[in-house]
Amino acid sequence: MSPAGRCRPIGAARACRKALARALARLAAVGGALSVAAAPLRPLDLPTANRALLEAGGEERFFVGTAGQPWTRGTFGCVRSGGAQLHEGLDIRSVQRDRHGEPTDPVRAAAAGTVAYANRTPSLSNYGNYLVLRHEIEGLEIYSLYAHLREIRAELTAGRAVQAGEVLGTLGRTSNTRQTIARERAHLHFELNLFVNDRFPAWYRKTFPTQRNDHGLWNGQNLVGLDARALFLAEQAAGERFSLLGFVRAQPVLCRVLVRATEFPWVRRYRFLVRANPRAEREGVAGYELALAFNGLPVEAIPRARSELRGAARFVLLSVNAAEHLRAPCGKLVQQRNSRWELTPRGTRLLDLITY
Ligand SMILES: [Zn+2]
Repeated sequence: MSPAGRCRPIGAARACRKALARALARLAAVGGALSVAAAPLRPLDLPTANRALLEAGGEERFFVGTAGQPWTRGTFGCVRSGGAQLHEGLDIRSVQRDRHGEPTDPVRAAAAGTVAYANRTPSLSNYGNYLVLRHEIEGLEIYSLYAHLREIRAELTAGRAVQAGEVLGTLGRTSNTRQTIARERAHLHFELNLFVNDRFPAWYRKTFPTQRNDHGLWNGQNLVGLDARALFLAEQAAGERFSLLGFVRAQPVLCRVLVRATEFPWVRRYRFLVRANPRAEREGVAGYELALAFNGLPVEAIPRARSELRGAARFVLLSVNAAEHLRAPCGKLVQQRNSRWELTPRGTRLLDLITY
């Protein structure tokens, strides 16, 4: 058991860090070959020992495709069902096995943070055993998600602090899908997400009254993903100049929508993604213009004054980037009817959740 492994969860994070520091100091004193990591240069790091993503031509060794399909199926985006289905994470190949061929790769925290949620009942999710961590980077709340784990460290309960690189559990192939994940395809499904709404459970009950929500706030619909591959490559290219905020702001915009809502959690939580508008500040905010990425990620909000609102509907589609829709159609947020763009029911439902 690691020194940190003996610490108790919740409220004891500081004592825990102190205990860890003491343990490390003891080890260092006896001349153990232990290197204490300095503050990481990257705000987010790869979650396993597989670093082939950062090597030229390493994709094949990094990603796992779906059964019999190429590695590109394991990347983020419209890569499933002939482009019609979104895969919201990276499927990272196992590089360490036991003598039975089962994966043993330690899975590590991509950044320092706290445990948001741990699902230890694989039958409740196609993610199997999964863990969600909350991080705050450049004032931005970002969530990392680790799925299909063989096991999650017992100490990792909600609220518990974790260090960057701390072992969270072991890579595995747990899932509740009828077709199990084959041993050779064992992988870590890894996501980086923004969080949509703290009122998700109530919204879900209202929207899907007959359906179960086993994971509360941590239902996949309440987490909207970033392309973690693009992020890691951008970090590598920019080095210390990398900015997570800049990365999110630079996401291609699929569409802009005017919402007649002024008080919703997203604008408070992601205030660094809210742009200034002197007119709205002067006249009062009557709504927001939201810029959405192809998968519904709101990447920018602009407060709008009453005099700037258009139409009477709750949600008014202002513009669509047709090239982006063509590149990534699987979000299915907008569609063209009689050469006019409109929000789909799915797009409307997402905006309802964002502004709920
Ligand atoms: Zn996956």
